[in-house]
Amino acid sequence: MNPYLNQPITVIKGIGDETAEIFSEMNIFNIHDLLEYFPYRYEDYRLRDLMEVQHDEKVTIEGKVQSEPSLVYYGRKKSKLSFRFFAGQYLIKVVFFNQPYLKNKITINETLTITGKWDAHRQTITASELQIGENVKGKDFEPVYSLKGRLTTKGMRKFINLAFQQFGAYIDETLPDYFITKYRLLNRRDAIKAMHFPGGGEDLKQARRRFVYEEFLIFQLKMQALRKFEREHSPGISQNYDLGKLKEFIARLPFPLTNAQKRVVNEILSDLKSPYRMNRLLQGDVGSGKTVVAAVGLYASVTSGYQGALMVPTEILAEQHAESLKTLLEPFGIKCELLTSSIKGKRRREILEQLTEGNIDILIGTHALIQDEVTFKKLGFVITDEQHRFGVEQRRILREKGENPDVLFMTATPIPRTLAITVFGEMDVSIIDEMPAGRKTIETYWAKPEMLERVLAFVEKELRKGHQAYVICPLIEESEKLDVQNAIDVHATLSSYFQNRFTTGLMHGRLSSEEKDSVMKAFSANEVQVLVSTTVVEVGVNVPNATVMVIYDAERFGLSQLHQLRGRVGRGSDQSYCILLASPKSETGQERMRIMTETNDGFVLSEKDLELRGPGDFFGKKQSGMPEFKVADMVHDYRALETARSDAATLIQSETFWKSEEYQLLRSQLEDSGVLEGEKLD
Ligand code: ADP
Ligand code: MG
Repeated sequence: MNPYLNQPITVIKGIGDETAEIFSEMNIFNIHDLLEYFPYRYEDYRLRDLMEVQHDEKVTIEGKVQSEPSLVYYGRKKSKLSFRFFAGQYLIKVVFFNQPYLKNKITINETLTITGKWDAHRQTITASELQIGENVKGKDFEPVYSLKGRLTTKGMRKFINLAFQQFGAYIDETLPDYFITKYRLLNRRDAIKAMHFPGGGEDLKQARRRFVYEEFLIFQLKMQALRKFEREHSPGISQNYDLGKLKEFIARLPFPLTNAQKRVVNEILSDLKSPYRMNRLLQGDVGSGKTVVAAVGLYASVTSGYQGALMVPTEILAEQHAESLKTLLEPFGIKCELLTSSIKGKRRREILEQLTEGNIDILIGTHALIQDEVTFKKLGFVITDEQHRFGVEQRRILREKGENPDVLFMTATPIPRTLAITVFGEMDVSIIDEMPAGRKTIETYWAKPEMLERVLAFVEKELRKGHQAYVICPLIEESEKLDVQNAIDVHATLSSYFQNRFTTGLMHGRLSSEEKDSVMKAFSANEVQVLVSTTVVEVGVNVPNATVMVIYDAERFGLSQLHQLRGRVGRGSDQSYCILLASPKSETGQERMRIMTETNDGFVLSEKDLELRGPGDFFGKKQSGMPEFKVADMVHDYRALETARSDAATLIQSETFWKSEEYQLLRSQLEDSGVLEGEKLD
């Protein structure tokens, strides 16, 4: 950093130790920090036509005083000054509270500029600021800062102004000329100036545009440098699989792989073969056929003389995956085994022993797989399904079960591209963006709760055809606070509704795993036709005979979750249906229901979800890991993000970036982040 900017803020006139103390709470220590402490919003002083102003909006208008101001006192020290005002073609009322001295300053027929809150019903402005005469402030926008202690906006502006006067000349350009010219960006100094003292809207826009690009570029450089570093410093195993065997396995599948599956299989195989460790995210919508891709990968690893592991978040899923993999792979002489926490005693010991001896080729299970007692003979490939349910720590432990095994993370929650390249920027990403041929799209309807009778009649019609139905509720039991359908009550209601004709089962997270298991088995075996459940069935459950999904209070779920739930049906060859029971009050709630009925494409949905919810909420509270940007917004500025990403990729690959003087400042950003020392690596 430039040494002038590295000086403590106390070099500025008016900032003493006490003020510096307050600034330190805002993480402002030196001149650089102060100059880069950007406003979080701007007061908009552009003159506007009242016609366009919403009720309760703050506005600045210019006009002429139409009546002698009248002053009324009430209570102690309270007063109200009001007069009529002609603004453009509107005759309105202006009110000042508790500023009686203004009475003498305001005269009839005089021109004033007034800022205040517009009450459209009363046609009144409650004024907060007054300029006698025309709007001469000359400023359209004034910065508003988030402040602590007794710092005021005025004071802050003054300090920043002083800092800029004295030290602005030392602000160095971080971006190479090439990018400045190419994207016609403001230079850093002008951009900082415009952020604090915008001359107008265009100024502000250009300043923002510059910082958005800069922030994204630096962020992407960090990510990609990390990825390059990871690759080059994480020796993996080069697995020499038996291509002939793989080809035969694929040829003997009951269906041809889709082109997307083929592409992804090739990506995985080439990672397995390479001497670097695979660190890959596989995204594929529900039902896009990830399991068979996983099977090919695991089989490849076994033919190279290694063991494979598949880790999933729930026991039900583990069982289903074990079942599928056994069916697919055992005919080829591969030994697959299931390990969950309900497998105990002698059986467990046997499995663990066989695993250590290398008699088990592929182990499938829940997080039971990562307990200490589990040791592989020669683990080469680890796959986790629904990776977002596992913490980073769990993934690391799993990876360390072998010597640098290749790792593949699978998820059925399509992650919008913008997020994928930010949150998972250090991973390679594969996408299955094509459904197996002949899939019928699930017909989705949005019904009001009053239509329940008709919905149930519809469900009954499907049940009579021999099909089954899921009914999802947001809560397990009645809640005092929320007026929401709960699984226990709905189960009771539906049991009596379908009485003597169909059997209704109940499933929720508070059941023991044995209970869940037995309900799930009964549903799989069609002993239960209607399964009332909370969202525990969200992930992966596969009962192809189920053709109806009814979701109560659907407005309470996010789009991605609704899509996951919907993905429980439509898994067989019959037409399936999803019925959303909802009367959302909010605009976004209604929008969500509409989007659900309009598209079955998980990627489209995830993009919309991101737009509606914002990036912070997308993964839910726990899974944050979201980078924070001062100026940029991943959703709205996604084009800049894409551009920055590809620029970063080019830079990272180029010799000049790592050597030339011109890139010194950008490179130093990477050093700050520890990427170059590899500190961030686990
Ligand atoms: P998911 O990606 O949700 O894990 P699965 O792997 O469970 O999807 O596959 C869903 C269903 O589609 C399974 O019954 C599977 O056998 C079938 N399937 C997978 N790939 C194909 C394909 N290429 N053609 C036809 N059916 C396929
Ligand atoms: Mg799956």
